[in-house]
Amino acid sequence: MADDMIPATDTRAEVARLLTELLGSADVQNHVAGRLMRGDGETLALTDPATGKIFAEFPDAGAAVVNAAAEAAVAAQREWWGKTASERGRIMFEIARQIRSHAEPLSRLEAISAGRPIRDAAGEPARMAEMFEYYAGWCDKITGDVIPVPSSHLNYTRHEPIGVVTQITPWNAPLFTCCWQVAPAICAGNAVMLKPSELTPLSSLVIAALCVRAGVPKGLVNVIAGQGPTAGQKMIGHPTTGLVVFVGSATGGAAIAAAAARRLIPSILELGGKSANIVFADADVDRAVIGAQAAIFAACGQSCVAGSRLLVHRSVHTEMVEKLAQASARIPVGMPLDPATQVGPVNNARQWDKVDTMVRTAVSEGAHLATGGGKPDALGETGGFFYAPTILDRVSHEMEIACEEVFGPVLSVLSFEDEEEAVALANDTPYGLAGAVWTRDVGRAHRVAAKVRAGTFWINSYKTINVMSPFGGFGQSGYGRSSGREALAAYTTTKSVWVETAADPTIGFGYAPG
Ligand code: NAD
Repeated sequence: MADDMIPATDTRAEVARLLTELLGSADVQNHVAGRLMRGDGETLALTDPATGKIFAEFPDAGAAVVNAAAEAAVAAQREWWGKTASERGRIMFEIARQIRSHAEPLSRLEAISAGRPIRDAAGEPARMAEMFEYYAGWCDKITGDVIPVPSSHLNYTRHEPIGVVTQITPWNAPLFTCCWQVAPAICAGNAVMLKPSELTPLSSLVIAALCVRAGVPKGLVNVIAGQGPTAGQKMIGHPTTGLVVFVGSATGGAAIAAAAARRLIPSILELGGKSANIVFADADVDRAVIGAQAAIFAACGQSCVAGSRLLVHRSVHTEMVEKLAQASARIPVGMPLDPATQVGPVNNARQWDKVDTMVRTAVSEGAHLATGGGKPDALGETGGFFYAPTILDRVSHEMEIACEEVFGPVLSVLSFEDEEEAVALANDTPYGLAGAVWTRDVGRAHRVAAKVRAGTFWINSYKTINVMSPFGGFGQSGYGRSSGREALAAYTTTKSVWVETAADPTIGFGYAPG
């Protein structure tokens, strides 16, 4: 056992220690108006994905928490927008510095509480800091236009904050998603009420605390630890919320968009996917094998952009599946804090059951289990929600597993004959989040990139995303973009200002005075 690993029974003590270091209290609460505030709803539990044991309990946030957050957010937003743009930028750079200087306990907390392998979690704070640095740079560059209207007016635009934004995030990458959404929102001058998944609220609470330490007005970033139908719906329904940003499942997205529509406020939805990873016969197969593993097994397949459908040209199908199965069977699956672990546990028991049921159903329908399926024998005693990297070959497009999101370490392999069929298969799901093509033919690469309906597409690569680049979906993968420069449009509203400049203007309506 590595020095920094902890026996399973001590998860509770270790999380309490980390929370005390990062938040000043071992209690899981809400971060509202710059301080911790207890919820008063039903008791919720946090479970260690690596052991299946409960390590903390906390009360669901009720109306009192949401109301306090909303009130604080309104006041803080006014103060924040009253600062100069350069000052807001400087404070955002300081948030990045705070994240970097708390990187070690923050990544450890994320690894333990969300089950993310430490080799991934350890690098995350630096990437989160980059998100704040990127948007810090934008604070004093959000400018409008002067429009050459055909009259004596000066007409210009201002991009103004929405005000208070409600953000609701899922359990698969809580720290990443929190920073991905908070950074553009506050850059654009908004205050935030963020509700992380009730399964993984801890790292988001820490980000709220670090924002306060960096000097944002208290209440600019509020984190509410509670459930969707209770706290989440109260946040959307609160009259101060002017925009809802949701990252999660298509089912959740429909509920959120409906609630936002009832209040006539806009929503941005970042939903799931069933992304196609297409390998042509002329591809570098060995690289494509590595890319296919990264696409599906990183984050234990719990990634919205997971390349969960591998479409392979018939002529290289057997070679590709054999190489993939051999390589995937050797991927180290294990405890999140073990530095050798590449694939950690599935986040929760319900998700494990869903993954396993979908795999069993596919096999019963005729899919061939090339490797994996079920819990790895070596981890049988842990009580954790481990699932072996799984490859299902001979999947046909009619099977549920070929078209529905699994959100676990399960790859479905399908064959195609030609480019037209590959594109048709790639596009034949309701989703459109991501996709990739592996080929040495430059023309084909760009043709396929243009034809596949997906918000993000890679050529001879997979899974790189960056806060500088717009991200979002087509179809049931959602709408709106919340990164890159495009996020600033989403998080602001445009005002058109008309100034009369004529010396003796005529207003061609009504009676002139006197
Ligand atoms: P989920 O939809 O069950 O929950 C997401 C969040 O919504 C949670 O905070 C939950 O409490 C809240 N919620 C659920 N129902 C709600 C309701 N009726 N009202 C208000 N809030 C509600 O999703 P999940 O299971 O936590 O996450 C997995 C899903 O998220 C997958 O489908 C995955 O693809 C998707 N995801 C998408 C992206 C993206 O950027 N496109 C990123 C990560 C995850």
